[in-house]
Amino acid sequence: MTDHEKIKQAVRLFLEGIGEDVSREGLRETPERIARMCEELYGGMDQDASAHLAKTFNVESSGMVIEKDITFYSTCEHHILPFYGKAHIAYIPDGKVVGLSKLARTVEVYARRLQLQEQLTGQIADALMKYMQPKGALVMIEAEHMCMTMRGIKKPGSRTVTLAKRGVFETDPALEEQFFRMLR
Ligand code: ZN
Repeated sequence: MTDHEKIKQAVRLFLEGIGEDVSREGLRETPERIARMCEELYGGMDQDASAHLAKTFNVESSGMVIEKDITFYSTCEHHILPFYGKAHIAYIPDGKVVGLSKLARTVEVYARRLQLQEQLTGQIADALMKYMQPKGALVMIEAEHMCMTMRGIKKPGSRTVTLAKRGVFETDPALEEQFFRMLR
C-alpha cells in the first residue's frame, strides 16, 4: 500500500531540491496529485498474478497460443521514468489454457511497479509456468525507455528487446522459430 503522507513530503522536498517554489499555484496540488497517481502506477505490488492465471480451461489441443502486442506502461527503477511498449506472450498448453485477457492482466501486475525490463520479462514467464503449468512459455518485450530518449544518448524511437524462455522453449529451437513466424 502506498503511504500518501510520505510521498507528499518527498515530492515537496524534491521540488525544493530542484529549485522550485512549492507554494506557487501550479505546484500547490502536485504532491497530492502524485500521491494519488502512485496508487495506480505502483498498484501491481499489491496484486498477485495467480488471481488471473489460476482460472484455467481444459483443452485437447496443445498448439502454441500467442497473444501479441499487449501494450504496457512501466517505470524504470534506476531513474523512476517510464518505459513502455509491447509484450508478446506464447505458451504451449499442457491441457489447460487461460482467457486471453488474463495474459494482459498478468503483464499489468508486474508492469505497475518499479521495474527493469529484463526482470519484467522473466517474471511474466515465471508466473505463467508457476500458475498455468504449460509445457513451455516465451515472453518477448519491446520497449522505449524515457531515461534513454529524454536524456543521455537521446535516441528517440530506439527500443530495447528482451526475451525469456521457459520449459520446452529452452530446448526446442523450432518452437522459437514458430513464435517469430507467428509474430510477423
Ligand atoms: Zn532508466
